[in-house]
Amino acid sequence: MPVLVMKFGGTSVATLDRIKRAAKRVALEVAKGYDVIVIVSAMSGKTNELVGWVNETSPLYDAREYDAVVSSGENVTAGLMALTLQEMDVPARSWQGWQVPVKTTSAHSSARIEEIPSDNIMAKFGEGMKVAVVAGFQGISPEGRITTLGRGGSDTTAVAFAAAFDAERCDIYTDVDGVYTTDPRIAEKARKLDKISFEEMLELASLGAKVLQTRSVELAMRYKVKLRVLSSFEEPSDTAGTLVCDEEEIMESNVVSGIAYSRDEAKMTLQSVEDRPGIAAAIFGPLSNAGINVDMIIQNIAEEGRTDMTFSCPTDQVIRAEKALNDAKAAGELNFSDLIADTNVAKISAVGIGMRSQSGVAAKMFQTLSDEGINIKVIATSEIKISVLVDRKYMELAVQSLHDAFELEKA
Ligand code: ADP
Ligand code: ASP
Ligand code: MG
Repeated sequence: MPVLVMKFGGTSVATLDRIKRAAKRVALEVAKGYDVIVIVSAMSGKTNELVGWVNETSPLYDAREYDAVVSSGENVTAGLMALTLQEMDVPARSWQGWQVPVKTTSAHSSARIEEIPSDNIMAKFGEGMKVAVVAGFQGISPEGRITTLGRGGSDTTAVAFAAAFDAERCDIYTDVDGVYTTDPRIAEKARKLDKISFEEMLELASLGAKVLQTRSVELAMRYKVKLRVLSSFEEPSDTAGTLVCDEEEIMESNVVSGIAYSRDEAKMTLQSVEDRPGIAAAIFGPLSNAGINVDMIIQNIAEEGRTDMTFSCPTDQVIRAEKALNDAKAAGELNFSDLIADTNVAKISAVGIGMRSQSGVAAKMFQTLSDEGINIKVIATSEIKISVLVDRKYMELAVQSLHDAFELEKA
């Protein structure tokens, strides 16, 4: 039997009714002759609640226990989905990550999947089971502890299963009907894309478009998984949603294909650090050891041998970053006068493979923001993206005005 992977995100399993609705979709695919692997997220809001409980209990938590707590939301929906399918006379059972087992690295709260042996589940398919419901977002480390794959990680679970089981397709069911030129909740002129290249989707995801977790796109690209994003609230159809595919399969290509934003970004400034060889290593070494994901970096011009160093990192890593830098200062490895964390910023990025061959995108982006009176705090560029850090209060305005400026509403 051909295998199909269907992933249902938090809003698609938010209530018992929605689980029923999702189960009906699964039953339709079973009726077509597929063996189906269903990956479920926790009910929407659940993971946030669990993360909140952990932070309140222990701000510098032991990541192994964080994973033990936050992985639990998916266990509930996996069991409920299996029960719902059974009630519809579809032979189904649930699996938690460790039961499959989904083998991951030991990097708690951001583990990577290393291997998914298919024999357990395949044996059950052989015995007549039609649906394997797997709790997304979780796995087991070589030490035998529960791990999680980072926020949004159920997408990655889904793609990894599609690769491991050589699935015909991996369908990601979510609360929007595809991938748009920008978040349709922020810009009403956002346009749905029929297709998007892996490269562009990868950039959009890594720059904040949370419709797919970055790692899931990486895996789909590497293992040539046919990946589709679609809504669980629309009527089933073969052409629904957005296909994430190779660049060659896409005819139209705008210079800029999408705008992404991230509000989970903080700007940290070390004031008055010595300007000497080795200073960057002295700052970013301890940050790296503390597991901080540093993104943008700027070092200002030095005056009288001292300079300011600014970098950005995810908001939820600010406390750890402060600790790492203050510890390095206390140990005499680093000298700075002040450490200022600004969590009132947002990162806005324009993405497009057309930028490889066209110039002027950065100029247009800066002019557009300037026309709106939006001050740019930090800039970073790569081959197919330009990102800026701005005050959080301008986030929506920046996204909408850039969407207009690059005429993304037009195909
Ligand atoms: P799920 O719970 O199904 O995993 P997520 O909330 O993780 O859903 O991702 C879907 C959300 O991603 C949408 O509701 C939308 O607000 C947001 N989003 C951000 N950028 C985009 C984009 N370019 N296209 C579509 N959705 C986007
Ligand atoms: N429930 C997890 C989260 O909210 C994983 C997921 O939904 O993909 O991040
Ligand atoms: Mg998600």
